[in-house]
Amino acid sequence: MQLPHPDPHDLPDPQAAHAPWWTHWSALPPARRAEVVAVARTLAEHGYRAWLVGGAVRDLVLGHGVGDLDMVSAATPDVALGLFPRARAIGKSFGIVQVDGAGESIELATFRLEEGYADGRHPDRVRFTDSLELDAKRRDFTCNALYFDPLGGELADPTGGMADLGAGVLRTVGEPSERFAEDGLRLLRVARFLARFDWQPAPGLLEAAYQARASLVGVSAERILGEFQRMANGPHPARALWALQQAGLLAASFGAGQAVDSPAEDRRLPLAEDLVQLRPKFGLVAWMVLGLDPDWTGLRPWSELQAEMAAGLERLRVPRGELAHTLAVAAGWRALLAWHLPDDMAAIVRCLRETTGPLVAQLAWIWAKRYGQPGDAERVQALRDWFASLPPERIRPRFLPNGTRWQALGVPQGPELGRCLAAVETAALEGRIASEAEALAWWSTHGPRPT
Ligand code: ATP
Ligand code: MG
Repeated sequence: MQLPHPDPHDLPDPQAAHAPWWTHWSALPPARRAEVVAVARTLAEHGYRAWLVGGAVRDLVLGHGVGDLDMVSAATPDVALGLFPRARAIGKSFGIVQVDGAGESIELATFRLEEGYADGRHPDRVRFTDSLELDAKRRDFTCNALYFDPLGGELADPTGGMADLGAGVLRTVGEPSERFAEDGLRLLRVARFLARFDWQPAPGLLEAAYQARASLVGVSAERILGEFQRMANGPHPARALWALQQAGLLAASFGAGQAVDSPAEDRRLPLAEDLVQLRPKFGLVAWMVLGLDPDWTGLRPWSELQAEMAAGLERLRVPRGELAHTLAVAAGWRALLAWHLPDDMAAIVRCLRETTGPLVAQLAWIWAKRYGQPGDAERVQALRDWFASLPPERIRPRFLPNGTRWQALGVPQGPELGRCLAAVETAALEGRIASEAEALAWWSTHGPRPT
């Protein structure tokens, strides 16, 4: 079915030209605008009115930078493929084709209804429609159900998205409990958008998310991880944490034992604000730390918590390198809090000299400041200062004989050589030996006697 080409009655109220979104639209790079207009013109010539939709319109209205460009019309994928020779179907069952312009790809969708979400993530059936209002009903939030006609400048707002945008309120299109049960990814999108715009949830939104938190099982590990990473690197990670925690999603994402989510005031929130200082490294490490309930960490063995962290990260299919990095940082940070000078001098140097050292020290300091005993943060700072003052040979003593040399001197390969290398290095890190000759002499006194 075709919609009529916009006639003068459909054209925007003359005020639209002065509306902020129109100004923001005009400020988009001309090449991007031209691409959108070209798609809309081609469709209009064939009787279809095309709209820019979703995040692009939301961001235009907010005056933010616009990311991907999504458009929608009543033209079915087959019609669209016929009209745009360079178009490719990328989700034909969902009615989406990609139109590649000179420098821009536009995803052009068909107005659609979605029905039945048996897997808690994807609709079982999609029906095309010529109704913009029906298309709006399947979208997640009112702010994401705004439509902008790039030819006439009209903004269609069938769900009250403009009022919510103006008030800074995130609201689902329709009953939140139903929308979350349909698609668990929307739970994470709640946290993402609340954090990104620093908005308030509509009344009942987080409670409904909390009730629906089990819907997260339908969401793939990759998607969960991707959403977490976006939130961690977004503008208000602490707000994301707050929303995730209120909706019970930290526990649901990382595994039941990882965090005790309760809508009560959470002691981790001030910590989250501090952790933002770790940018640009604020990532999984920080989320893992945030996943820990500070009340628990003193009560349960650290090794148990670490095993839980590892299991949580594996469940999210964190790439091996990042997993190792995250666990190394978590282990180091915790250990550093327990170490003292001079007894643990070598351990402290070995920890801080690694590439993860600065992050470990920063985390330990932040944690100590928030949750430590009086004086803990100052002690961690003193360790950092002490480490920074060490000469290079106290950090990586290059004068020490290597394994081959020790073997030539009669130390057998195997565990004993390992013990020898570690013991001599410890003595060097503690400043008890400062040359190769001293190392040899030290081992001849302290090493095992030849039998
Ligand atoms: P971003 O700026 O991060 O791209 P976005 O809102 O544009 O945010 P997209 O994933 O690009 O997000 O999706 C485009 C639009 O599709 C959304 O604005 C929304 O209208 C709709 N949408 C996306 N994901 C969902 C979902 N899981 N459930 C319902 N509607 C969705
Ligand atoms: Mg988008």
